[in-house]
Amino acid sequence: MEITKFTCDKCGDLDSVVFSGYPFGDRLLEGVMFKAFFDNGGTLKVTLNDPSDKAYCSQLNMKYWYKEALDFAKKLDIAECPKCGEEVDGPGQDDDAPPPKTYPAKALSLEQWVEEAIDKRKDKK
Ligand SMILES: [Zn+2]
Repeated sequence: MEITKFTCDKCGDLDSVVFSGYPFGDRLLEGVMFKAFFDNGGTLKVTLNDPSDKAYCSQLNMKYWYKEALDFAKKLDIAECPKCGEEVDGPGQDDDAPPPKTYPAKALSLEQWVEEAIDKRKDKK
């Protein structure tokens, strides 16, 4: 299941999570922190975490690096809490919880439902 919001065990709900640019940008993005957040439509977005990095990053092809950062963020399973710095689940974290109960794809009419319920009882006998 895809994560659609971030939470920290200590801080509760988070607007964003923070991650380093180093794993995908190597030395070029060493020390540059990005943050991942969901926009109003629930789409994952990335931006610079620290506005003071803007000057440095303006020398880089940030169109490219934002795309790289986004691809990276989508697979990121551990990120950082922007408030306390603790590890939190990233956007790519798989939810280990069992999948939600599936409902029959087709909507059953009441009659069909009763019929199926009766059939199931018969099976038990
Ligand atoms: Zn926290």
